[in-house]
Amino acid sequence: MKIVLIGPPGAGKGTQAEKLAVHWKIPRITTGDLFRQAVSEKTPLGLKVQGLLEKGSLVPDEIVLGLMEERMSKPDCKTGFILDGFPRTVGQAEGLEKWLGRVGLKLDSVVALEVSKEEAVGRITGRRQCASCGNTYHLHFQPPKQEGRCDVCGGSLVQRKDDEEKTVRHRLEVYDKETAPLLAFYQKKGLLKKVNGLQKPNAVFEEIKASSLIK
Ligand code: ADP
Ligand code: AMP
Repeated sequence: MKIVLIGPPGAGKGTQAEKLAVHWKIPRITTGDLFRQAVSEKTPLGLKVQGLLEKGSLVPDEIVLGLMEERMSKPDCKTGFILDGFPRTVGQAEGLEKWLGRVGLKLDSVVALEVSKEEAVGRITGRRQCASCGNTYHLHFQPPKQEGRCDVCGGSLVQRKDDEEKTVRHRLEVYDKETAPLLAFYQKKGLLKKVNGLQKPNAVFEEIKASSLIK
């Protein structure tokens, strides 16, 4: 299965990518996580993109495409992958299509998670992430068993810098301008599946699995 998850920040892409990766036994590739890791390790890439991530602006297409081509070429991607947070511009989608063509692959499905703007803001501002293992929680919708502590590893839960409300509003504007045009792009190719992201996580999961089986 080669599937793309599209949706505004807070739509639930990461939450669903995690579940789908376990279900289909394929890797979840999350560009945001790759960039955050590079920032925390202070690699040359991390130093280049740090300011853009903090502002909630997009990393240039050529950097994203280079990173993703390298990642998707790894052996664990032979049986498929879930792309979470990529592509995010028409330029990236065209680059992805060219790369897939070169290696003889095709996408199976592009799932658009639909949520309202207010829901997205509420989800993101309440999101907390484990500083050690990266597991994601929500203060109200998916609270940890012990306040401030990760259920999986006991690490402390922190708010991403770009999850503060002012930056979130900017990220939503960037989504409307740069990423929303991908919906028409993939609709024309017959790949787009729209899924109601306002349901409970398990209901969204079931809808994605069912829609991905329809050709
Ligand atoms: P994205 O990767 O699209 O930015 P996440 O998967 O990180 O979104 O979800 C954003 C926040 O919303 C997280 O705190 C997560 O726990 C919560 N969340 C995810 N899916 C749902 C849902 N269906 N209903 C309520 N909260 C959700
Ligand atoms: P996310 O974790 O998906 O919310 O992404 C966090 C940040 O990483 C974004 O605000 C961008 O700065 C950067 N980023 C992630 N994916 C991409 C992408 N495909 N294209 C450009 N920038 C990206």
